[in-house]
Amino acid sequence: MFESLSERLSGVFERLTSRGALTEDDVRTALREVRVALLEADVSLPVARDFVRRVQEKATGQAVTKSVTPGQQVVKIVHDELVAVLAGDGAEIGRLKIDNPPAPILMVGLQGSGKTTTTAKLAKRLKEVEHKRVLMASLDTNRPAAMEQLEILGRQIGVDTLPIVKGETAQAIARRAKQQALLGGYDVYMLDTAGRLHIDAELIQQAAEVRDIVSPRETLLVVDGLTGQVAVEVAEEFDDKIGITGVVMTRMDGDGRGGAALSMRAVTGKPIKFVGTGEKMDALEEFHPERIAGRILGMGDIVALVEKAQATIEAEEAERMMKRFQKGRFNMNDLKMQLEQMLRMGGMEGIMGLLPGMGKMQKQIAEAGFDDKVIRHQIALINSMTKKERANPQILQASRKKRIARGAGLEVQDLNRLLKMHRQMSDMMKKLGRMGKGGALKQAMR
Ligand code: GDP
Repeated sequence: MFESLSERLSGVFERLTSRGALTEDDVRTALREVRVALLEADVSLPVARDFVRRVQEKATGQAVTKSVTPGQQVVKIVHDELVAVLAGDGAEIGRLKIDNPPAPILMVGLQGSGKTTTTAKLAKRLKEVEHKRVLMASLDTNRPAAMEQLEILGRQIGVDTLPIVKGETAQAIARRAKQQALLGGYDVYMLDTAGRLHIDAELIQQAAEVRDIVSPRETLLVVDGLTGQVAVEVAEEFDDKIGITGVVMTRMDGDGRGGAALSMRAVTGKPIKFVGTGEKMDALEEFHPERIAGRILGMGDIVALVEKAQATIEAEEAERMMKRFQKGRFNMNDLKMQLEQMLRMGGMEGIMGLLPGMGKMQKQIAEAGFDDKVIRHQIALINSMTKKERANPQILQASRKKRIARGAGLEVQDLNRLLKMHRQMSDMMKKLGRMGKGGALKQAMR
């Protein structure tokens, strides 16, 4: 999967990383090529446009990390954006909600998408990897062959199927499956709904009725990855009409352009949970955004290099800061660095939890309603100070305060709060420093 996209992108980035210095023009040209490559891979236009815009913003806004080239850094930014666009908020990927047995899983999708095959593949996986007892049932009453196909696959993988009763409606089969799953002590029961060549009212109606009968824990849409944008459109429509919890994209072993996988999450908001990579029963993979992004970009070495360089620099920064704290120095630049780190680490609680003796203050701050917005305001206030003021906040009197607050678009009150926090923190730093060099603080900064 993704071969041609991967080839295109690695071409762009090889050119970029082979240079020592990059101009803004170099980056712009490269990103234009990235955009074309994404569109050729059938990524939807808004997604491709957004992607390039975000990379551009980050590439121009970020200071270049020591010991890597700007080109390498751009590769890392592109990699991170690929992961972000594939993962969304990252929740729920590769995992199925199957607590509270028997957990119903509804499988929906168009005919020929690989729905029946995927149902069996997933059942096999649940049985072998998660050690679940699974029952499968086909609701495709229009196509007896489809019902038999599931039965045959079930025998092949050693998973039970609900006995076929001729002339039953899909709704009746769903009820019987639910009951059988309960009585038979199954952990999971999977319903393979009828597929059509196109989404039509009857198909949707039936799927919706079945959904209301069993209240599925997961409603998985199976789409054919080879159909590109159409797969994304199908997902939007199914989600709109029935509500889906995730997507399984099949035929990712083929030479499809793969762009649908990149658009899916951004367009539908639903995660791809698994991908089908062949006809065999074990040709199913969990969808790992990191791994897929790595495969698309094919530049894992560079990504690792930049990560390492960034980690080293953060460690050096922390070491430097620690030395200053031990001498009892803690100015506005230090505070700004702390605040920025808090934002990166997911807010106040992340960083404060790392420092000893900060628990109490953390609580106070939390009670004062300290959130990301407040942190950003405080950073704006510090940015509005002169170099001299940042180094010696003691010199701030009324007129300077007014100027600073105005510069940040905030009130003097806000600045006073910041100054109070700075005083408290610097007192604490002094105490911690006195606790002995190489003492608690040093431990904590490790
Ligand atoms: P359904 O009509 O949606 O139930 O589709 P089927 O499960 O019957 O699958 C249709 C065909 O696609 C079968 O020949 C499957 O073996 C094949 N198929 C399903 N998933 C994959 C996949 O991930 N890769 C490949 N290469 N073939 C697949």
